[in-house]
Amino acid sequence: MKSGPGTSGLILNEPLLWEKGKKGRRGMSIPTSDVPEAVLDAGLTGAGPDFPDLSEIDIVRHYTRLSQWNFGVDTGMYPLGSCTMKYNPKINDKLAATPEIASAHPMLDDGSVQGTLQIMYELQKYLAAITGMDAVSLQPSAGAQGELAGMLVFAAYHRSRGSVRTKILIPDTAHGTNPASAALCGFRPVALKANAQGVLDVQAVADLMDDETAGIMLTNPNTLGIFETNIRQIADIVHAKGGLVYGDGANMNAIMGIVDIKKCGVDVMHLNLHKTFSTPHGGGGPGAGPVCVVRELERFLPVPRAVKDSEGYRLEFDRPESIGRVHGFHGNFSVLVRAWSYIRSMGPDNLKKASQLAVLNANYIKERLKKDLHLPYDRPCMHECVFSDLFQHENGVKTLDMAKRLIDHGYHPPTIYFPLVVPGAIMIEPTETECKEDIDLFIEVVQQVVAEAREKPELLLQAPVRTKLRRLDETQAARHPCLRG
Ligand SMILES: *Cc1c(COP(=O)(O)O)cnc(C)c1O
Repeated sequence: MKSGPGTSGLILNEPLLWEKGKKGRRGMSIPTSDVPEAVLDAGLTGAGPDFPDLSEIDIVRHYTRLSQWNFGVDTGMYPLGSCTMKYNPKINDKLAATPEIASAHPMLDDGSVQGTLQIMYELQKYLAAITGMDAVSLQPSAGAQGELAGMLVFAAYHRSRGSVRTKILIPDTAHGTNPASAALCGFRPVALKANAQGVLDVQAVADLMDDETAGIMLTNPNTLGIFETNIRQIADIVHAKGGLVYGDGANMNAIMGIVDIKKCGVDVMHLNLHKTFSTPHGGGGPGAGPVCVVRELERFLPVPRAVKDSEGYRLEFDRPESIGRVHGFHGNFSVLVRAWSYIRSMGPDNLKKASQLAVLNANYIKERLKKDLHLPYDRPCMHECVFSDLFQHENGVKTLDMAKRLIDHGYHPPTIYFPLVVPGAIMIEPTETECKEDIDLFIEVVQQVVAEAREKPELLLQAPVRTKLRRLDETQAARHPCLRG
């Protein structure tokens, strides 16, 4: 049996800088000053902050060690489902850091920032081309805010037609932000059950859709990693009753350049640039959640948008029916630059290939692990596959135990207990960037954990055993973090 990339050695302890410091230690020496000492204004004196005294090597080791306690996609595989934690090529970070771009002030005149406006304009065009939609706003700063903007567009559309709609249909597989965004706009979410194949049933939508319902919010591929095959028929039913269709595009990594979202009947969709389009987003870093709409809804999009006319690029504010701004200035601009750079450097053929490889890799894992882990929906998946811990129940081992044991073997655990419709879910998304050797190693390590669950379940109940800290009370750790190593 091969062993995973993890080892237990050389993980060094590190105290706080305050505990490490020693009075009089310093990081540099400067000659004694020949300028006489001056006494500061009375108001400015006092105890001052208690900074520890440290040498250069104290500091270098401190931060290097802390960095080694971290795990990220640059360290190893990060098989998080639905959230697409893929490797982001460094060239895109480099471009976002270009001084001319990074230092462009958002209040400069349009004439002085033609380059950055061009990036925005072109990105709007590219995202429209990739999704098949007609118009794009780059304003929202996360998927959830894109959903909120989308729901505001839904509300503005119905208001413009004098129609009062209070409900919205949302599948039980949806991400929690969907019902939350709908509720923030005053819509009451009505749950739709996925059928035995893990997709939405046309009849179930027909039964619930009425003229008090603003529309439907669905995710495609859905959070079970399955393509909503009935989407066009569902959209027709919703449209026939005057409703709109919202597409949650967080799972775009499975379908770039392959599915035309407009042809599926979707009217509004957000994209998570920090998931699909090359911005690292662990730990809640900056994101961008552009919204894409069909022509009929363009007039409601947030302002400003980048436009181009005979004089060049400019920001356009004059849209009386717009839902208004949803963000100061241009949102997290460097995320937009990364997406633009990613799309340009990949090109249409490679974007499509990335999605094809993401889907192939997930199906490969699904097929190779389905004897080891229970597969609730045994059918071709998209970019992620969802297992459960059913087979391990007889040994008293649960999803959480296996996820913790993967840490001992050097893997970040996959998404667990989501989607909620699969009890004990283990959701794996390898993404397109992992090579076959690395995926094979991951599979073998999961198989090893499954064997351990059978042979020494008591070990799994204690996992992780090789980490600096063992099994934490996660609620307590999140509410009262203790930062001492
Ligand atoms: C991540 C995600 C969201 C929310 O996006 P954020 O950018 O985290 O706000 C919504 N829906 C699905 C399916 C997601 O995976």
